[in-house]
Amino acid sequence: MSYPDLHLVIGGERIAGGGRRTSAVVNPATGEPIADLPLADPADLDRALDTAARGFRSWRESTPQQRAAVLNGAARLLRERADDLARIATLEQGKTLAEAKVEVAMNAALFEFYAGEAFRLYGRTLVRPAGQRSTVSHEPVGPVAAFAPWNFPLGNPGRKLGAPIAAGCSVILKAAEETPASALGVLQCLLDAGLPPDVAQAVFGVPDEVSRHLLASPVIRKLSFTGSTTVGRHLARLAAEDMKRTTMELGGHGPVLVFDDADIDRALDTMAASKYRNAGQVCVSPTRFIVHEAVFARFRDGFAERAGGIVVGDGLDPATGMGPMANARRPEAMERLIADATARGARLCTGGERIGNRGYFYRPTVLADVPLDATVMNEEPFGPIALINPYRDEEAMIAEANRLPYGLAAYAWTQDAQRQRRVSRAIESGMVGINTTMIGGADSPFGGVKWSGHGAEDGPEGVAACLVTKAVHEG
Ligand code: NAD
Repeated sequence: MSYPDLHLVIGGERIAGGGRRTSAVVNPATGEPIADLPLADPADLDRALDTAARGFRSWRESTPQQRAAVLNGAARLLRERADDLARIATLEQGKTLAEAKVEVAMNAALFEFYAGEAFRLYGRTLVRPAGQRSTVSHEPVGPVAAFAPWNFPLGNPGRKLGAPIAAGCSVILKAAEETPASALGVLQCLLDAGLPPDVAQAVFGVPDEVSRHLLASPVIRKLSFTGSTTVGRHLARLAAEDMKRTTMELGGHGPVLVFDDADIDRALDTMAASKYRNAGQVCVSPTRFIVHEAVFARFRDGFAERAGGIVVGDGLDPATGMGPMANARRPEAMERLIADATARGARLCTGGERIGNRGYFYRPTVLADVPLDATVMNEEPFGPIALINPYRDEEAMIAEANRLPYGLAAYAWTQDAQRQRRVSRAIESGMVGINTTMIGGADSPFGGVKWSGHGAEDGPEGVAACLVTKAVHEG
């Protein structure tokens, strides 16, 4: 199957051409353009806003059965179309086909969970004297402006669309201009499953133009953003002008505490696989390995050996373990970060270079003994770099885990049950994995604290974030 034609979707209508500006979509495995994406102009955005306002008026009155039918139907279609969707995601983002298929499966599971949540938007009745009545109900917040990045081209749009739809909101999705066809594929599953066309729109454009336009409109009552802390801060300021609700899923710098009583082989196998998934372009990627000095050398060498054994290639090739990075900015950032770290005295154990001169391939990299003032120890690398440093005791390890202003995902490896509880309590993080990297699921909140943002996606919390409360008192 070839790469599909690209368009905006407003009120169910596919919009392209008409003298609109375009941007090129590039296959990261080749660096070659594969399609032109039409960019929304202000009139398109106004039309999307009008449509979303209309869509909200009707969808807020929809029954749980109607919402569940759409979400369950879309989950079925996602599974039916999994092969095509995964191929599109690999072509425009680079990840392996196997990883792209996991995204489809996660989206389908999430839509099914949200279908159930649509029936559970319970309110409550308060205890009052006879003749009086007080109720608390949950109502959809209103039209949502949702911005989804390129690293999970299917998963991110699924999250951004599913929760508002379950809650009874309309949504304008601006997925990343780098990965538009995946987002359109997910939206199409919802429309084909019976979602009224004015409930969900897809626009693309110059990101800052689109976000300023949408967030300046009183129609939009909620902002949902996934991306860097820098952009998140900018968007949160725009949203604050109109007191819009926000869910912000921002950057991380995943600390991994490896204690001397850990099952080191299992930790190595699990963490190396997790580190290089999606070429490290994952907000919950394990990044800072904080290793007890007694097991440091074994862990560092075992990690470098596993990293060096990963087959890097085109994500469409079944033999590939890690695809290219998603765009030209990422390998450039890796070069800058690694040069800075080694200049400051970090030891390059493996990797540290691009592969070939076509596409955006980068070698899985391990740096050890990295000084704390190296940029990479403070800035999210968002790439295939593991940073491994030795520490003397639990207190120092926890202090290092909490040193940065980020708090999205953290991991710890220890067999001591008391230590597991101490560490999970002490770490400032939205999600903690103890002896596991499985820190998400359709029924579990996904989100961070501190500079990693606020609010959560997935789980009942994901839908609750699209609801407001109303208390009604009858005398
Ligand atoms: P970026 O920060 O410019 O963009 C990140 C995402 O935000 C992109 O999808 C982009 O389209 C969007 N964006 C940028 N400016 C915007 C605006 N004014 N309004 C609305 N959306 C806007 O940088 P990038 O080069 O694409 O990514 C680099 C950094 O972004 C990474 O280092 C990482 O920290 C972060 N990032 C995080 C996630 C995540 O899952 N949390 C995903 C992608 C990127």
